[in-house]
Amino acid sequence: MQESLEKNPLRLFSEQKIIFPKRVWGKFRKIKWIIMTCTLFVYYFAPWIRWDRGPQIPNQAILIDMPNRRAYFFFIEIWPQEIYFLTGILIFLAVALFLSTSLVGRAWCGYACPQTVWTDLFVWVERIFQGDRNSRMKLSNAPISFNKIWRKLSTHIAWIVIAILTGGAWVFYFNDAPTLLEQIINFDVPWSVLSWIVVLTFSTYLMAGFAREQVCTYMCPYARFQSAMFDRDTLIISYDEFRGEPRGKHKAGDSWVNKGHCINCTECIQVCPMGIDIRQGLQMECIACGLCIDACNKIMKKINLPAGLIRYDTEKNKGRRFRNEKEKKGLLRGRTYSYLSILLILSAAILYTLLNRSILELNVLHDRNPLFVKLSNGQIRNSYDIKILNKSFKSKKYSLSIEGLKNSKIKIQGIESLSSNNLPVMANSVGHYRIFLIADKNIEVRKKVIFNIKELDDEISDTVENIFISGKY
Ligand code: SF4
Ligand code: SF4
Repeated sequence: MQESLEKNPLRLFSEQKIIFPKRVWGKFRKIKWIIMTCTLFVYYFAPWIRWDRGPQIPNQAILIDMPNRRAYFFFIEIWPQEIYFLTGILIFLAVALFLSTSLVGRAWCGYACPQTVWTDLFVWVERIFQGDRNSRMKLSNAPISFNKIWRKLSTHIAWIVIAILTGGAWVFYFNDAPTLLEQIINFDVPWSVLSWIVVLTFSTYLMAGFAREQVCTYMCPYARFQSAMFDRDTLIISYDEFRGEPRGKHKAGDSWVNKGHCINCTECIQVCPMGIDIRQGLQMECIACGLCIDACNKIMKKINLPAGLIRYDTEKNKGRRFRNEKEKKGLLRGRTYSYLSILLILSAAILYTLLNRSILELNVLHDRNPLFVKLSNGQIRNSYDIKILNKSFKSKKYSLSIEGLKNSKIKIQGIESLSSNNLPVMANSVGHYRIFLIADKNIEVRKKVIFNIKELDDEISDTVENIFISGKY
């Protein structure tokens, strides 16, 4: 045993077998091309869409403005205090993914996941320079030659260019795109941006050029738990063994009696980007891309048999066909209705919160040290940190008032000339003021006070509760 372990040590990961997926054409490949083109187009061009929000405010439609702590998405703006919107959107997307998995299995993985999209793009480039599966395999096993070097080198140069463009496009989402492009052209890129470009270029090159299916099998956590969302009504890639077996070679004109429709041509394996044989049943590696369906349908057409030996199918329908019962078409059921209801409730909550989002917010923080000051005339003074959040795209003026404290007055610390009835705050920014609240000595030790902020030209206001302290308690 010990000797055998030494000879064949246990491995956590099996050695990567290089996969050379064969070119295939069909309905699902067409859908994949369309989705790939659309997602890449959106990724590369979205940061260039402009959206006018007024002077001094970024006019990029989609922007995560880290230095100023804002996120912009067309007409929506999210402040750090509103991070719950992001949480809501992430929960929404997670539930949407659960819904799509329970309906159509790993269709997200097979069609729209960035790992799939970029791997597809890289394989396409590889095919341009090195040819289809057989040529690529031959070239890979061939000794070093001029032909091999130029083909491999061209592939890697093209991959690196795509990777740079990918890393480069990502940083545009965090900076004003035209300004950053100018900086890049002038070799004047901030080091923080440059390091992100380098990291993302390298990871794209590595993940789409080399790791490929290993990412889906070993790195992606979703692959591990997505089966929890599957049931017998989920559409999965399915080989019809009742029809296909016993498989074997078939010559034109031969009878099909006692023979399955699978002619063991292995086309379905050759086109598979995960390198699996779907005839062995659904496997964890299968990303539901449907390319094996296209390949098998092409073969079925050639030998004049109906398409669908491999197809998107549900376990229940497979059983129904076996029992000669009628198949069911609809995919909606209890589980999917639950996901749909959660999505509906979540979208209603997000929409309601967005529509009722206040563009004014007041934050008040009582000074801790000292809690209060006794003035020479006997009056008591408390200090507060006031933050007025003007979330509108216009500069505004506000009036600050107090409720619950008789004969009190507000003084703005450090700006004697400024009245609490006329506090300016720039558009889309936070007005930060330090105030003194002064009151008579004959009040409770700890008194509840209400701070009111009101916009001068509008009815918008906000109220915050705090305390006034006039002695030790
Ligand atoms: S492509 Fe179809 S016929 Fe060919 S091996 Fe696969 S299942 Fe059998
Ligand atoms: S088995 Fe078919 S659907 Fe699954 S990954 Fe391979 S080609 Fe795609």
